[in-house]
Amino acid sequence: MPNQLTNAVAAMFLATSMIVPVAAADAYDARIDALADKYESAVMAWRHDIHQNPELSNREFRTAKVIADHLKSLKLDEVRTGIAPTGVVGILRGGKPGDRVVALRADFDALPVKETADVPFKSTRIDNDYPGGPFPVAHACGHDTHAAMLMGAASVLAAMRDEIPGTIMFIFQPAEEGPPLGEQFGADAMMKAGVFEELQPGAVFGMHVAYFPLGHVGFATGVQNGTSEVITIDIEGVQTHGSMPFMGKDPLPVLAAINDGFAQIYRQIDANRAMTISIGKIDTVGRSNIIGQHIVATGTVRAISDDVMKDINTRMQRVVENAAEMHGLTATLEIDQHVPAVVNRPEWVERFEGTAERVVGKEQTFTMRPSMGYDDVSVFMNAAGGGIYWILGGQHTKFDEEGNVVAAEAGGGPIPNHNPAFYIDDSVLKVGVRLHAYSAMDYLYGK
Ligand SMILES: [Zn+2]
Ligand SMILES: [Zn+2]
Repeated sequence: MPNQLTNAVAAMFLATSMIVPVAAADAYDARIDALADKYESAVMAWRHDIHQNPELSNREFRTAKVIADHLKSLKLDEVRTGIAPTGVVGILRGGKPGDRVVALRADFDALPVKETADVPFKSTRIDNDYPGGPFPVAHACGHDTHAAMLMGAASVLAAMRDEIPGTIMFIFQPAEEGPPLGEQFGADAMMKAGVFEELQPGAVFGMHVAYFPLGHVGFATGVQNGTSEVITIDIEGVQTHGSMPFMGKDPLPVLAAINDGFAQIYRQIDANRAMTISIGKIDTVGRSNIIGQHIVATGTVRAISDDVMKDINTRMQRVVENAAEMHGLTATLEIDQHVPAVVNRPEWVERFEGTAERVVGKEQTFTMRPSMGYDDVSVFMNAAGGGIYWILGGQHTKFDEEGNVVAAEAGGGPIPNHNPAFYIDDSVLKVGVRLHAYSAMDYLYGK
């Protein structure tokens, strides 16, 4: 019996080790580091080029071509382009046996922002055709760095093909920033286009740059980024003269009641479970002496988790219907562009901590509180069933004694994402390349 058990355990061990080869500790770290050094200047050049030629969501045709041309030059096993509509996926099959598949993901769209950052590769681009434009365009969220870092990781890992036990997918996605209403977010659109149909990754790793100290890596356990939705409230009234409101039906008091009702939702949800509802745009056809027929108001809802969001949706629906009825009008609520929460599950955090510490050192990793900004990397992570999404600091800042982020030098920051002066220092690009490569190799080696 003991012998049989021992044999069974040995057989299990053998079976596992055939699927997931065991590498000597840190066997590939030095090789990744050397290659990241080698490609650092190329990564900087790609970053500057993409930064100077920013493109808005779902219109990133030039950026996608730059990325695809690079992946093709690496002779990956497969490079798929034009996915929903500009997504690019590269597949690299390793030279060692291994069943695991890992995906590394970067977004590459820019924002309608006029850049004020003082960098030699500053954007001066204007998009004349984007709905609601013309708009100045800039990489005010750092997705230029995301794209360049993943291009660099592809170079590093392609050069290590013989040492890779499994398959690596490089996912470059469009439209992470909210695309125009009626258009799809990039991750959702790529999933609908079937990017995981032939090859199903078991983990997705991704990152976002932010104003934290240079080269510091932060992650939350549990919710990393909250969930988001866009709401459209449509109120139908009856147009009339401004001096004779009793002759028509004024939709404005309904909107006011809805706004007040939404404010009460904060008191119906546990105060520890963060949420925001903001109406940011109101359209109506009226003037000083005309009460308009119709109001369309749009806004955004954020919540700390998917279940809180579900609860909010039911409550908003009730407020909208009843506020309209109170005034004898009708109103509808539409909910679009749902992005699920990004969740770093504890078992994945535990594994990734070791990875991050090998790349930047323990003292340069930090725990974060959840962010209310969304990221649709969650769509890929949920579909894969695992992975980690982390934040990479890229500004001249430091933590003060209370853990707040403050400037490390004059003009160093912190400057938040989406601010016209947002910047990311080139020196952290190599850190991002290494984080991508380490996280992929660690997963494939079963670390
Ligand atoms: Zn952003
Ligand atoms: Zn972003």
